[in-house]
Amino acid sequence: KNTPKSILITGGAGFIGSHVVRRFVNSYPHYHIYNLDALTYAGNLENLKDVQEARNYSFVKGDIVDTDFINAFFSQTKFDGVIHLAAESHVDRSISDPLSFVRTNVLGTVNLLNASLEAAKKNPNFRFYHISTDEVYGSLGKTGLFTETTPYSPNSPYSASKASSDHFVRAYGETYGLPFVISNCSNNYGPNHFPEKLIPLFINNIINNRPLPVYGDGNYTRDWLYVKDHAEAIDLIFHKGKNGETYNIGGFNEWKNIDLTKLLCRLMDKKLNRMKGTSEKLITFVKDRPGHDLRYAIDASKINRELGWKPSVTFEEGLERTIDWYLDNQEWLDHVTSGDYTLYYQKQYQP
Ligand code: NAD
Repeated sequence: KNTPKSILITGGAGFIGSHVVRRFVNSYPHYHIYNLDALTYAGNLENLKDVQEARNYSFVKGDIVDTDFINAFFSQTKFDGVIHLAAESHVDRSISDPLSFVRTNVLGTVNLLNASLEAAKKNPNFRFYHISTDEVYGSLGKTGLFTETTPYSPNSPYSASKASSDHFVRAYGETYGLPFVISNCSNNYGPNHFPEKLIPLFINNIINNRPLPVYGDGNYTRDWLYVKDHAEAIDLIFHKGKNGETYNIGGFNEWKNIDLTKLLCRLMDKKLNRMKGTSEKLITFVKDRPGHDLRYAIDASKINRELGWKPSVTFEEGLERTIDWYLDNQEWLDHVTSGDYTLYYQKQYQP
């Protein structure tokens, strides 16, 4: 029997969060979905235009670091679950401003955990679900895969803050008995991705004939997952994952940055009817990022085995859909690349 449920999704105006909110609002009409987001530079309600009028959806603007606000918010609504995505998420920004990452990712998470303890006391079915990254595991050599038992070894202020929040979630489970699940996912790509991250940055730069800044020698290797496949995994873990467990989520899709960039260039030349090789000429190698992890790769066999999840699209299909989305949504791109983004872009790429 379907009982009404109140679900809090934090960071729902961001890239991944907006796909999770849409999926939950549309798939579970008998739930009420609360989207709590501070609307930082990365949060954008335009991402959710299509669900903003839905009867089972509410947006609340607020900062997870504000303890009084969070406690008051939790005392108004009896939540059945929290899916926590709100975070500072960009590694390059964490290098220039680590404290804001500690603030949101660590303090904000602990605030939510404290409020969740109270919620769990009143509701035995309550669950806290923390969305995290594979970057907490550090870097791999040329071979091997991250599994759920790989020791944490974060190398950037971003991954250190996410590792810390993962530890707090786990500790609240052990110390206070808070029912929780955690998932650690590889790099996402897809519609609504803020164009400071590699794939949307490069799509945007190719459209505008701007250089494509590839770090170091371009041999950094990442595993890529289409964002809607991540949202599906989150849905499955939230509903069927075991309390106290961690699940790794990945695309079985490893790419060196330089090869990915060339693939993107080829696809964009075709889409824009440009001569073969036009976009590749925009590739420029730039000074390496400090503390740059060589390779991330995920063993996602546990979620496949236990929950039956696997990615639904190939990388080429996902990239094509992503490129089409950016070409069809130039207005979105223009909005998010005005203001603060322009300043950041100039500082980062035109020093
Ligand atoms: P994002 O930067 O696009 O979105 C983050 C959202 O959180 C924004 O809407 C922002 O306004 C909100 N937010 C930031 N600080 C806040 C605060 N103090 N209070 C309330 N809201 C706040 O990030 P994303 O790429 O969608 O990532 C979402 C989550 O998934 C993060 O926790 C991230 O660590 C994790 N993750 C991301 C990836 C990826 O490839 N993008 C991969 C694995 C895990």
